[in-house]
Amino acid sequence: MASPTAPISVARRRGASDPAMAPARSIAARRTDRIAWNLAASGVIWLTSLVVVALWVKGGGIEAIAAGGADFLNTTGRLTGLISANLLLYQVLLMARVPLFERGFGRDGITRMHRLVGFWSFWLLIAHIVLLVFGYAAQAAINPLVQLWQFVWDYSGMLLATAGTGLLILVVVTSIRRARRKLRYESWHLLHLYGYLGVGLAIPHMLWTGADFTASTVATVYWWGLWAVVAASVLIFRIGMPVARSLRHDVRVASVERDGDRGVAVNMRGRNLRSLGAQPGQFFVWRFLDGAGWMRGHPFSLAAAPRGDAMTISARIVGDGTQRLTRLRRGTRVVFEGPYGHMTGSARQGTKMLMIGAGAGVAPLVALLEGEAYARGAATLITRDHVDSEGLRRGAIGRLVASRGVQHYTLDGPRARSGSTWLPATHAAWKGADLIRHLTPDLASYDVFLCGPIPWMDSLRDDLRAAGVPSDRIHREAFAV
Ligand SMILES: Cc1cc2nc3c(=O)[nH]c(=O)nc-3n(C[C@H](O)[C@H](O)[C@H](O)COP(=O)(O)OP(=O)(O)OC[C@H]3O[C@@H](n4cnc5c(N)ncnc54)[C@H](O)[C@@H]3O)c2cc1C
Repeated sequence: MASPTAPISVARRRGASDPAMAPARSIAARRTDRIAWNLAASGVIWLTSLVVVALWVKGGGIEAIAAGGADFLNTTGRLTGLISANLLLYQVLLMARVPLFERGFGRDGITRMHRLVGFWSFWLLIAHIVLLVFGYAAQAAINPLVQLWQFVWDYSGMLLATAGTGLLILVVVTSIRRARRKLRYESWHLLHLYGYLGVGLAIPHMLWTGADFTASTVATVYWWGLWAVVAASVLIFRIGMPVARSLRHDVRVASVERDGDRGVAVNMRGRNLRSLGAQPGQFFVWRFLDGAGWMRGHPFSLAAAPRGDAMTISARIVGDGTQRLTRLRRGTRVVFEGPYGHMTGSARQGTKMLMIGAGAGVAPLVALLEGEAYARGAATLITRDHVDSEGLRRGAIGRLVASRGVQHYTLDGPRARSGSTWLPATHAAWKGADLIRHLTPDLASYDVFLCGPIPWMDSLRDDLRAAGVPSDRIHREAFAV
């Protein structure tokens, strides 16, 4: 094993005894629940995709493929358009915070799916346009550019669809990582919202010119039904429920305190918060009604296990939204969406927990350590900060070390430039996998929870896999969208 160039700081491990182990049955029951939600959510997406393909087959799709030539181009053009339309509607549905998908995939999973489904639906849309232009042009024996011109100007709904396609191209281009890095989050988010308009503008041409939508009653019912469900979900889950819940629970700021050199913790109180069913490891999107600009919601995880009618968040101050938290006054009303997130105790399979957090990522890990059951010494927390004094939740961590026997290691300093880049430069001589095995020799009994920037988690996940941790024992939440 490579030797470290710097010691790992270890916090004291003393204190009172506590619950023995997370009861095995409860871990198994929670896991079954989680798998059931995942199967239900995946099942809905796959089944509806099958319905779309079945409708195309019923409309003579296979025969047209066999006929070849222009028929082949036209029918594959229709199929790619149908699948693209289905996926585009799922794009909106996935972001509508529908409980089925939130519980089935978790926010992190949904964010990854949103990216994947977005690019697939986009390329299928482009294939749809190209195939139909060439198919119709071949049939009419005209230049494809002339055909494209005729589509746009002569077919019902096509001008709107062209504008919609333009907006979707804008959304896709600004979501390419390199382009996105150049934009402020607010600008990118605003542009991204045009995707909703793009989808909306594409709908009329499907109804007015799409034979597959009107060919059978089943097809018409399916498409109208899906659009209605998508529109209703956005209205209910993104607007109606958050407003109703916020009014019912009347959450208010109770106090604000500094948390490390660059952090702030906000304590809130409300009515009957237990009924929200929020679990440690989850997050909410918060809006503090403290003046102009309150409409912009910010996601923050629970930084402490929910206690009665109290909730706490802790934020690293990085920009306007987080700076504003420091100026919140006691009694400020809070509008919230949530709880969301999959990185909860229900992911556990083993009896031990290894928690590794970078920067603000430590907040949900501390909440999990407060809320979960484990034996003394069976939970290890590794925190990674640029500078030790910036560490969040240090008071709560100290209490976990003293009262629950949590082992706390700090890995602070600028990041390593090569090798295991999740480590600080001071530990560059370590192989990450060796360090993990060194800290948790009986790794097979552990679930590992990660939270931090995506590239940092990716580097860490590679080392965890190299150390022998199966991927279904690695649970993560990215603080990014
Ligand atoms: C699921 C999730 C949980 C999070 N939990 C925590 C937490 O517990 N503690 C914490 O300190 N941070 C957390 N974050 C990150 C936090 O939301 C951002 O740091 C915060 O919104 C930054 O806002 P700002 O105006 O201060 O900074 P800005 O300068 O506006 O933004 C800095 C960066 O933060 C991200 N960001 C900004 N606004 C949003 C937004 N509305 N939604 C998503 N990302 C945004 C963008 O990547 C942006 O580049 C979480 C993020 C996510 C996605």
